[in-house]
Amino acid sequence: MAISDLKKLNIDQIQTGFKTGNFSSEELTQAYLNNIKIDKHNAFISINEQALAEAKQADKQIKAGQGTPLTGIPLAVKDIIVVKDLKATAGSKILENYVATYDATVIQKLKQAGMVILGKTNCDEFAMGSSNENSYFGPVLNPHDKERVPGGSSGGSAAAIAADLAPIALGTDTGGSIRQPAAFCGIVGLKPSYGRVSRYGSMAMASSLDQIGPMANTVRDIAHLISAIAGFDKNDATSSKAKVGDYLAALDQDAKKLTIGIPKEYFSGGIDPEIKTAIEGQIRLLEKAGLKIVEVSLPYTDYALAAYYLLMPAEVSSNLARYDSLRYGGLCLEKKDISLDEWYKEVRSIGFSPESKRRIMLGTYILSAGYYDAYYKQAQRVRTLIKQDFAKVFSQVDVLLTPVTPSTAFKLGEKSQDPLSMYLSDVFTVSANIGGICGLSLPIGKDKNNLPIGLQLLADAYAEEKLLTVGNFIENLNK
Ligand code: GLN
Repeated sequence: MAISDLKKLNIDQIQTGFKTGNFSSEELTQAYLNNIKIDKHNAFISINEQALAEAKQADKQIKAGQGTPLTGIPLAVKDIIVVKDLKATAGSKILENYVATYDATVIQKLKQAGMVILGKTNCDEFAMGSSNENSYFGPVLNPHDKERVPGGSSGGSAAAIAADLAPIALGTDTGGSIRQPAAFCGIVGLKPSYGRVSRYGSMAMASSLDQIGPMANTVRDIAHLISAIAGFDKNDATSSKAKVGDYLAALDQDAKKLTIGIPKEYFSGGIDPEIKTAIEGQIRLLEKAGLKIVEVSLPYTDYALAAYYLLMPAEVSSNLARYDSLRYGGLCLEKKDISLDEWYKEVRSIGFSPESKRRIMLGTYILSAGYYDAYYKQAQRVRTLIKQDFAKVFSQVDVLLTPVTPSTAFKLGEKSQDPLSMYLSDVFTVSANIGGICGLSLPIGKDKNNLPIGLQLLADAYAEEKLLTVGNFIENLNK
């Protein structure tokens, strides 16, 4: 199979390829590995040496008629999710030599379904960033323009799909890290509702906000993946027992039966006029197609980013306390005969990036006596108000339609020296994490620089099916 054939492949096309004998999983896996080898986007941190063996095994299963829809389909995994016997660095020097000893629950499930793991993708250190420039392994380049960022923190996963290095990838989303890189790279990404997917084996950034989710070329592929990874897990006490939906059937549900809300707060202020025009164009298309569109209001939207950048570092500061380069085979110090305190100071000083240190310090400050009430508690109150905003609006409409990002992919280095302007790129995505609801990002066109523009759909907690119904409808409208 020629490398040139690997263009934006989706699961249905791959299954057809397997069935007709056009290619095997082994050939397909080899073709992706070849692409990864010559790739210039820095999308992968490490490769799974067992990928071809796994693909051969999958081919046997397919031949024996024992395959699932995912058997033999190659998968890229963000390096913050652990896969047994593969390195898991979380994009950090402090875990440079860590080899995982177990599979995350999502990995267990996807291995069982027969997926083939190609390797681990680059990401911002401990998933903290919006541009992938905070990775110890260097920035990822956007496949649409190598001078631009792919978004973050799951930038390697998004770039891998956009550059045809993998058909499917896993990312994590704490404040937008699946949806924003999906938008910047012109692919589809789903942040499931909090608790929909087990977090067991995903290194925690901010435990009350983190979710693992799929990234792919089509909404249908997203439905395949979420079907395989959703559900309660006894290893994650925060995973939900809520009934898992029929996500593939949701694709064929009638979108016209759903009401779409346009939250006015997402269309004011610093949004790129080209994005605004593109989204408004989509709204008109949907209206013409017979969908019911109403304007709604989420009055506490303005406070979401501030609340996120208090709650998140507070959790980060305690989650990152465990990294001491003793427990996880991290970096080795030349110095001997130093006290434990000196060891901690030294490994954490050289092991963490400036962004991680910034968040650890901010979080520690926010949680310290005297400031806790003013910052952390206040942010928790805002969290409640944002949740109430969503509860109210989802009693009126089924799905919200908004932009994903205020701009298309920005230039490498453009915001890396200015944390505040970097944080502002999360303005439309953080509310979903704060509210625990689900969100889908899908491409709807390009700007004048030929850079992808994304559209965000939000639905209430555990209403992923509605996102898939409307997402699939929009994808078809734009075909
Ligand atoms: N960009 C956001 C941040 O830097 C979100 C990160 C994420 O979702 N993991 O915190």
